[in-house]
Amino acid sequence: MRILVVEDSRVVSRILQHLIAQELGCDVDFAEDMATARLLLTQYKYFVAITDLNLPDAQEGEIVKLVQGHQTPCIVLTGSLDGQQRKRLLQLGIVDYILKENRFSYEYVVRLVTRLKRNEKVKVLVADDSMVSRKFVRSLLEQQLFQVIEADDGLSALEILKSQPDITLLITDYNMPGLDGFGLILKVRESFTREELAIIGLSSDDDESLSARFIKNGANDFLQKPFVHEEFHCRVLNTLDSLDMIRKLWEQANLDYLTGVYNRRYFFNLFEEQLQQIEQKKTSLTLALLDIDFFKKVNDTYGHDIGDEVLVEFAARLKHFFGQHFTVARFGGEEFTVAFRGLNEDKVFSLMDKFRAQLEVEAIQTSQGPINVTVSTGIAGLSDESLDNLLQRADKALYDAKELGRNLVCIEGNE
Ligand code: GH3
Ligand code: MG
Ligand code: MG
Repeated sequence: MRILVVEDSRVVSRILQHLIAQELGCDVDFAEDMATARLLLTQYKYFVAITDLNLPDAQEGEIVKLVQGHQTPCIVLTGSLDGQQRKRLLQLGIVDYILKENRFSYEYVVRLVTRLKRNEKVKVLVADDSMVSRKFVRSLLEQQLFQVIEADDGLSALEILKSQPDITLLITDYNMPGLDGFGLILKVRESFTREELAIIGLSSDDDESLSARFIKNGANDFLQKPFVHEEFHCRVLNTLDSLDMIRKLWEQANLDYLTGVYNRRYFFNLFEEQLQQIEQKKTSLTLALLDIDFFKKVNDTYGHDIGDEVLVEFAARLKHFFGQHFTVARFGGEEFTVAFRGLNEDKVFSLMDKFRAQLEVEAIQTSQGPINVTVSTGIAGLSDESLDNLLQRADKALYDAKELGRNLVCIEGNE
């Protein structure tokens, strides 16, 4: 990522340089005037340009058009802005404008760039039967680099959501033929929680009860039409920020902080819930419990940090090998588990033994060079019992694998 800052004030440049380096760690070029900016723009492709409106060689904000001519999103910094100038800028389709008032203004710039980077990956579906309104919302979203998809009624919106489950935000109008905004939200909420898909309802001025009803029907927020640019962006950003926050909380509660695989808590929640269903359906569930051999020695020899690197890489391999179809979790320390739904012990044995053999020959790369580790694994299959019991039997098999010399896979009950 490369950013262009066009600013003739040294003080402002320096603050921005410091903040961008600290928070974003990307390449930044500085231009003090429009001529330099022009040169740089032909040389590099910038992710975004942050520009002062008033430059020594261009005092009327000509820089905005220059930047946009290079298909580069533009954030405007300005000392002051009257109503007319604001309107003109917004019509030009800039990302945002920021008044150079205080330290927080510059922090806002940095946050804005971070969000733009995030937005690029966010898919937004706009459902509205009015093409004019749809195009307007699209243009606002595209200024902020979102990926935009359009639907001209509720039913086609529903279809699109089914075929593209990675859509994060739905912005929907109320009045639409076939299925209206409320109907759409009710249907959508059958399959997507508020954390999986955020919804913003658009309601029109003449029915003030709509906004509250949107929320009650499952929308995260609403916007009263007609709205101004800033209001729209604030609502969208706030909605996505809280989505991010909830996801982060979920990750903190359910993922292992070091390796990023699921933690013990997630594992128990998932399988305690599913156990009855698994037993009723007579599908098989097989657990593998893995423990790295002589891991204490890795720590003692190379230090705890390198031990951590080994754990991270070990978990990544486990996830790469099994994670697509099966549940990989870290139980603590150097102990991991993989749960296999629908596979019996023999099948799991051959998969696990393949993993074991591969680990044995492929050293783990660390910042202190390659380290060879091996793993011992115990396997147990579910038979009318509790999860704790199943785990205990897997643990017994793991103990056998250690006793028999390590770097082995053992099935519980097999001698
Ligand atoms: P065995 O083959 O019998 O499993 O021997 P071992 O040394 O692997 O087993 P032991 O249980 O004696 O030691 C496990 C070590 O793992 C001790 C502990 O300090 C270390 N450990 C636990 N959690 C972490 C961690 O998060 N990071 C690092 N670096 N080490 C950890
Ligand atoms: Mg161990
Ligand atoms: Mg251990």
